[in-house]
Amino acid sequence: MGTTHRYCGSCGKPTVAHAADRARDCPECRLTFYPRISPVVMALVTRGRQLLLTRKPGYAPGAIRWSRVSSRRERRWSMR
Ligand SMILES: [Zn+2]
Repeated sequence: MGTTHRYCGSCGKPTVAHAADRARDCPECRLTFYPRISPVVMALVTRGRQLLLTRKPGYAPGAIRWSRVSSRRERRWSMR
């Protein structure tokens, strides 16, 4: 979980590793803090047996760097 949530956001006391989850607990407040996540949208576009792959411009010539269509979620997007 890196260095996030080392201290409680409510009381400021050091947190401890959660017993079962990838989280940290505050022994004082009994709050549980989970790591921040960055939602990602990924799609696989197909037509029959064909796949649509994308490639970022700027990769070295000859580099095989094709992937599915994906993007980090922007705050203004609706996730319905
Ligand atoms: Zn606390």
